[in-house]
Amino acid sequence: MRGEGTVVRKLLLFWLLLPIPCWGGAVRVTPQPLDQGGVGWVEVRAEREVRGEFLKRSLPFFRTAEETWRALIGVDLALPPGSYPLKVETEGKRVTLFVRVKKTPFGLQKITLPRHMVELRGKVLERVRREKRILREIFSRIRSEPLWRGSFLLPLKGTVTTPFGVRRIINGRYRSFHSGVDIAAREGSPILATNDGMVILAQKLYLEGNTVIIDHGLGLYSIYLHLAEVFVRKGDKVKRGERIGLVGATGRVTGPHLHWGIKLLGQRVDPMALIELSKGLGR
Ligand SMILES: [Zn+2]
Repeated sequence: MRGEGTVVRKLLLFWLLLPIPCWGGAVRVTPQPLDQGGVGWVEVRAEREVRGEFLKRSLPFFRTAEETWRALIGVDLALPPGSYPLKVETEGKRVTLFVRVKKTPFGLQKITLPRHMVELRGKVLERVRREKRILREIFSRIRSEPLWRGSFLLPLKGTVTTPFGVRRIINGRYRSFHSGVDIAAREGSPILATNDGMVILAQKLYLEGNTVIIDHGLGLYSIYLHLAEVFVRKGDKVKRGERIGLVGATGRVTGPHLHWGIKLLGQRVDPMALIELSKGLGR
């Protein structure tokens, strides 16, 4: 009888150590907490397909190893600090984790611009609104497979004149947050694709000037503004490091520079944070 008790205890212990009841341990978010405008990995250990949801958007996971699935998550630069639920589901198991977002000191930038550049009216305002709708539509699409691989590279070496996230005061009034990184370089310097992807837009926009947007899959887009010349067309496949255009001063700018932005599942995230996160992925 005593032997049986030991067996039962052993079975009980074995059952407690099974991964199923504590499945949440198989989900990991790094880094934590995230900065406003930060990017991170969600890593899940599971055999079959993983689904997820974060900030009311479905999270596209992809397999990185035999039983490992990953998804990139990003938080918008204007998302208030706090804890946000991340739902993960696979093989009938479900878990909700909380992703912490901490306040990030972005700073202010005062700029003076001619009035006609700031106060848009009539036909110009109509055009700007129409172009914003085109961009929104592009960023709402999610290609289900990743087109990128390995680490992301800096598209242009130069001086960062306006970092990501600064709040802009134009002609004494609060305007938007700076949703990318401004890198100044000599006019005509080559701009490189940050990773593999497909060109989803290559055209002149009113505020942005000559613009290239690359779809890297899984809701990740890289954005290049104010180009002097564009070497790619919509639908082109590009490789990491490929020349896509030249630095210019087209659109609403005060001098030649590249405005480089990253959109991840609709969130405006810090391009430098993506480079940092992807370091060590090879290539
Ligand atoms: Zn900019």
